[in-house]
Amino acid sequence: MTVRAESASFDLERQWSAVQNQLRAEYGDAAFKTWLASLSLEGLEGDRVRLGVPTRFLRDWIASHYADRIKVLWRRANPVVDGIALTVTPTPSKVTKASDAMVMPSTATTPRMAHVSIGEPEQKASVAEIGPSADVSAPLDPRCTFENFVVGKPNELAFAAAKRVAELNELPFNPLFIYGGVGLGKTHLMHAIAWEIQRQDPSRKVVYLSAEKFMYQFIRALRFKDTMRFKELFRSVDVLMVDDVQFIGGKDSTQEEFFHTFNTLIDRGSQIVISSDRSPAELSGLEERIRSRLGWGLVVDIHPSTYELRLGILQSKAEGLAAQVKVPDRVLEFLATRITSNIRELEGALNRIVAQATLVGRAITLEMAQEVLQDLLRAHERRITIEEIQKKVAEHYGLKLSDMHSARRARVVARPRQVAMYLAKQLTPRSLPEIGRRFGGRDHTTVMHAIRKIEELRSQDSVMNEDIEKLRRQLHG
Ligand code: ADP
Ligand code: MG
Repeated sequence: MTVRAESASFDLERQWSAVQNQLRAEYGDAAFKTWLASLSLEGLEGDRVRLGVPTRFLRDWIASHYADRIKVLWRRANPVVDGIALTVTPTPSKVTKASDAMVMPSTATTPRMAHVSIGEPEQKASVAEIGPSADVSAPLDPRCTFENFVVGKPNELAFAAAKRVAELNELPFNPLFIYGGVGLGKTHLMHAIAWEIQRQDPSRKVVYLSAEKFMYQFIRALRFKDTMRFKELFRSVDVLMVDDVQFIGGKDSTQEEFFHTFNTLIDRGSQIVISSDRSPAELSGLEERIRSRLGWGLVVDIHPSTYELRLGILQSKAEGLAAQVKVPDRVLEFLATRITSNIRELEGALNRIVAQATLVGRAITLEMAQEVLQDLLRAHERRITIEEIQKKVAEHYGLKLSDMHSARRARVVARPRQVAMYLAKQLTPRSLPEIGRRFGGRDHTTVMHAIRKIEELRSQDSVMNEDIEKLRRQLHG
């Protein structure tokens, strides 16, 4: 290298420092560290400055958000410069170092998960200094395995997809996006994936955490001005699972960071698994770009449970308890009929009954279950509306919804109407006058008469009795 070239490259370094300082001053420390600190000066080619970025995603992001400004600052620092070029140049040394710090010795009870320490000032990334409070990966529930997951129509697709992700080394779909209502088994499946991967290959780094925790970690890293390390740590995992991602919406910088991490991992060929209570398209508060990217892999939803699935889950849980206590099938069927909103509540109900039985030494019967679960059952019944009852009953007897309100007295219409009134009294907290009003403005004595009539019929007519039980079950979900 000639003396001139050497001093020119020295000048270039100096100019780059000036540009960096200016960028930091204009965008602030946090944004600078997040987006711009990883830029490296590669050299001047003609009138273009070549800058290196570690990932494709970062390159695109900088190109669309910062490139114009960087160009202006470069021109100001060096009039020869007329443009910049961004090239992807991975920096493996840093990533390796960070990933070393993530491996913790495995323990007997939890699989070896990646443990990450972030943000403590002056803390070195060494294994010895990483305490439990610094875990990035949340603990796994030992009960949440594939073996303990009962498969039925509503969750079979999600189950199959989760198994594929856990079983194969190639990436069948990336990301895997699992969504569904509360308590339907999303977290269970994610834990099962983590257990299974760890079982097969303990050297793979799996990080499972809630989106809230992810946000918290990121904000903490921002506070300690340590976002680069945050990024590197997350980016050295083989499998990243983020639970309940709907909580990421809204918070701009974490959203960006999440997306950024996400893209880097996908670029590197790491598996990502995401869960949410809604589909990617319904994730309001999330940028369109991010939403669509989340749906690139495979999106599977867990449907609300069916009676069969609920019963299956209860039976499998009851089997596990068989040594302690016997739960009669009738009680399981009763629970599966009445507690329909989510599996967590269903489990909770079974646990309450079992606790009562073992603590007080009481046999489990239907009456006992009803008594123990009184409050829970009542809460469930309140959710049914008169309108739903009318619809279901009309459908069942092949009538129109309007027949429920009409003045027609023919038995084919009047009897089902009475059934609907009876169910309205049983399944909703509405008073007799209210019910009367909702059935075409009838008097409360009419409703009372209907209830008596149906009660009488139920005790004599088994078909009627079955009809009502069936309707009640359908209405409960
Ligand atoms: P989500 O994350 O969707 O809100 P969870 O995974 O936490 O729901 O599930 C709630 C509870 O129900 C957990 O205890 C879980 O083990 C249990 N559960 C859910 N689905 C099933 C299933 N198919 N088989 C066995 N247990 C289940
Ligand atoms: Mg969950």
